[in-house]
Amino acid sequence: MRGAIPQPDYYAILGVQPDAADAEITRAWRRLVLAAHPDKRDSPASREGTPGGSTSTTLNGDSVPDIVLVNEARAVLSDPTRRAAFDAERARPYSAQPPAPSGPRIREYVSLETFTPHVEDESNPDAEPHQYTLECRCGQEYVITLEELEAGVDVIGCPGCGEYIGVEYEEVDE
Ligand SMILES: [Zn+2]
Repeated sequence: MRGAIPQPDYYAILGVQPDAADAEITRAWRRLVLAAHPDKRDSPASREGTPGGSTSTTLNGDSVPDIVLVNEARAVLSDPTRRAAFDAERARPYSAQPPAPSGPRIREYVSLETFTPHVEDESNPDAEPHQYTLECRCGQEYVITLEELEAGVDVIGCPGCGEYIGVEYEEVDE
């Protein structure tokens, strides 16, 4: 399942609690190293520094973590600075999405025909509406002006509640 998270959980690899003391970490690490390399029980430390990503280690059972990871886990967790950095990284929810950069969230799409047209010159029957309004559920009004329509604006915000709606309309031709 690796790859879904930015880095492995070193505590889980060593099988220790996140608040484990140094001695516990070393003990857990030694146990895993011995389990993976029963012939090298005298100098497990000599295996430190194995390049990461190596797959040369052959394990007898899949219950023993990759020795490279075990060494890496111990190296990080026994170094206060690296452990603190790892703890901070670990505490951050990796599934958190960055804020959507794609503008306002549109509550709904409304046809311009649903809007109420407002004509500036009421005496002129041929006058084009200079703006259209639609009552928002908050009581305020969405307003879209003729200028905005001609400019192709199709998302407007309510001044009352900050909701956005999309306005559907045909291209306004002169
Ligand atoms: Zn509103």
